[in-house]
Amino acid sequence: MKVSRRAQAVPPSATLAVTARAKELKAQGRDIIGFGAGEPDFDTPDYIKEAAIKALKAGKTKYTPSSGTIELKKAIAEKLQKENGLQYKPEQIIVNIGAKHSVYEVMQAVLDSGDEVILPTPYWVTYPETAKLAGATCKIVNTDSSTSYKITPQQLKNAVTPKTAMLVINSPNNPGGFTYNPDELAALAKVLEGTNVCVLSDEIYEKLVYGSTKFVSFASLSQDAYNRTLTINGFSKAFSMTGWRLGYTAGPLDVIKAMGRLQDQMTSNPVTFAQDAAIAALKEDTGEVEKMRVEFERRGEYMAKRLNTIEGIVCPQPTGAFYCFPDVSSHYGSTINGVKINGSMDFAAALLEQAEVALVPGLPFGCDKNIRLSFACSLEQITKGLDRIKRWLTQ
Ligand code: PMP
Repeated sequence: MKVSRRAQAVPPSATLAVTARAKELKAQGRDIIGFGAGEPDFDTPDYIKEAAIKALKAGKTKYTPSSGTIELKKAIAEKLQKENGLQYKPEQIIVNIGAKHSVYEVMQAVLDSGDEVILPTPYWVTYPETAKLAGATCKIVNTDSSTSYKITPQQLKNAVTPKTAMLVINSPNNPGGFTYNPDELAALAKVLEGTNVCVLSDEIYEKLVYGSTKFVSFASLSQDAYNRTLTINGFSKAFSMTGWRLGYTAGPLDVIKAMGRLQDQMTSNPVTFAQDAAIAALKEDTGEVEKMRVEFERRGEYMAKRLNTIEGIVCPQPTGAFYCFPDVSSHYGSTINGVKINGSMDFAAALLEQAEVALVPGLPFGCDKNIRLSFACSLEQITKGLDRIKRWLTQ
């Protein structure tokens, strides 16, 4: 059957090849250590599950308003006020079916064909594809270790053109594991003053920050930043709720309304009883989120420290999310067990075949020098996997 040009233009996920091969090898009985996970390895806390069960038993099995229940929007507004210093009315909030859906819908609601989207590397793979699906062109701004993989105000200034419609900021960052500090964000916000550029601020890893790192919402930086920002957040990472499919967007009323019209026709409401669970997640602090954060911090510190002891690997200490993103490019050009390593795709593929460690190459995130290792797995797994990488590289 005919496939639309639009759908044909969406490439298969470049990261999927390694993940699929890892699964294949596992099925063959091989002992693969997986550093590919993009989701917490903890279960959803019980108090959240209980709220969903209660909602189901109370018969909450029918449609809600398509942009989410007023109760959940109010709970989100309260959270944004209390934790982020942001004033949003419930009608400025839309609940989406995962933050990935939020990103897609924001792109559809804001962008026109010919618009430019500024995308600093490393970027989450969904941003360029959803921007392109909305008809926009991505202006990739390359960053490196000299600025801790963050876009500088000067780089942003140079990238803005009359066609620029959006800047994507994702802090804490997937895949980089870094976080912008408040001053850095304020300097970026300043550059945008007087322009028509909106900011998509993806804050889904907000709760996972480490050391002295302080999280700040882009929209809270100034009135100007507030007016131009779409704040995206969700439940997947902080509350270990990836399977529940719940995200949300807060921002200027006209855009949120437009997203609501799109959502009316695309999906209708997020799962009804999951919305009740989300209210519980936001309102009842049982300390479990903090427990998970502390455990991630411990693992991230350990993983980065150990990676840096391996010859030819340079790994910044992650300050957020659950990823290490080391530069392994000093190994490019070498041949390991007869396989030439020319870039991150070769590195990841050879490591999987020869040393039975699965991780994600940096190329699909716009950084071919790097690889991404998730520490959403046990310390034992981390130790075993890093032992294998070390042996593989130093044999
Ligand atoms: N933003 C970023 C940066 C992510 O890493 C992810 C999950 N991989 C999402 C958004 C989407 O999360 P979800 O759709 O599960 O809410």
